[in-house]
Amino acid sequence: MNIHEYQAKELFKEFGIPVPNGVLVETVEQARQLVGTSPLFKGDSKPAVWAVKAQIHAGGRGKAGGVKIAKTVEEIPGFVEQILGKILVTHQTGPEGRKVQKVWIEEGSRIAREYYLSAVVDRTSRRITLIASTEGGMEIEEVAHSHPEKILHISIDPAEGYSPYIGRRLFSFLGLPFQTQVQFVNLVRDLLSFFQQRDASMVEINPLVLTQDDKLIALDAKVGFDDNAVGRHPSIKGLRDLLEENELEIEASKYNLNYVKLDGNIACMVNGAGLAMATMDVIALAGGSPSNFLDVGGGASKETVEQAFRIILSDPHVKGIFVNIFGGIVRCERIAGGIIAAAQDVKITVPLVVRLQGTNAKEGREMLKNSGLAIQVAEELFEGAEKIVLAVKGGA
Ligand code: GDP
Ligand code: MN
Repeated sequence: MNIHEYQAKELFKEFGIPVPNGVLVETVEQARQLVGTSPLFKGDSKPAVWAVKAQIHAGGRGKAGGVKIAKTVEEIPGFVEQILGKILVTHQTGPEGRKVQKVWIEEGSRIAREYYLSAVVDRTSRRITLIASTEGGMEIEEVAHSHPEKILHISIDPAEGYSPYIGRRLFSFLGLPFQTQVQFVNLVRDLLSFFQQRDASMVEINPLVLTQDDKLIALDAKVGFDDNAVGRHPSIKGLRDLLEENELEIEASKYNLNYVKLDGNIACMVNGAGLAMATMDVIALAGGSPSNFLDVGGGASKETVEQAFRIILSDPHVKGIFVNIFGGIVRCERIAGGIIAAAQDVKITVPLVVRLQGTNAKEGREMLKNSGLAIQVAEELFEGAEKIVLAVKGGA
């Protein structure tokens, strides 16, 4: 689960990681009001400049026009107006872009240098890895490609945890001024505490800036949480922004269906994540292209199958459906009953191929054949994939 920059900065603050002060607005009117009332914009100690920033779950906003620097208070509402409602297209949004629904206005920083600092779970070493670079503000993938020597990785031994020497190694690699050493070492410590205590999967500060008065500040904040751990943190669960997620994926999660939208045209409905992956591969092998990943879970009752049909058919690109179910805990004739009942309720307008294997598979297949519905039955995985690819290509 990903969250917005402004939410990540609030969490950073709780852990003592320095961030600029700011306010969130969802309308230009709100921006006008705040500019007249909030201490962030008034008085002798008001900042010299402000950053007006689009809030979307994607990086690269700066280059796409989603970050503006206001030099006067009066400029702010105009910038908010330019950004709100705009479709930002960045390297992380895909060509369709993302609509800006929220804008964050914060005190601007006088930047001396920009750095990169992040923590991620490295699946190969099965450890948290800290990544730092002197090339802040740039895409780290780009730096990794062109200047790998400018990146330092430090893998954290889970038994040892954080030690100040880790912070000091990163500090000397980055070549930060000596008077910022304590600040930096504490920042790395706090970043790791946040990562571990909140079950993050990724925390990225790009850029981490050194200001002209030698302060370190997280100017950007990108945070992702481990979906399987979000349940342990009710406050983080509440940070989910459904406007940023795919509608069909949200709908599927209501029924405990594991659905991921893809860009092909053959929908698949499978029980078990491993089998779902294998099914997608076999569809590709047979010359087709899957429109989704869908794991209906172990049960595959009439209700789950029905909801699954509804969800996959809401995607207008779907030209055929391949159901691949293994009857292990649940028997195939019950699944067949569920598919028949669901197919009767949901109007299926595209070819449907069902492959059943496992307990009572023969009985299940007989039921499907005798149902009077236009269901093609398959016994083997590749046979099923070939049948659906042929049906979709031939328009059969
Ligand atoms: P991203 O493009 O989505 O990664 O958005 P960032 O929050 O990283 O902002 C992009 C760039 O805008 C940063 O790398 C900075 O160079 C610049 N920027 C952001 N905030 C400020 C600020 O307060 N002052 C100045 N001078 N530049 C800023
Ligand atoms: Mn950034």
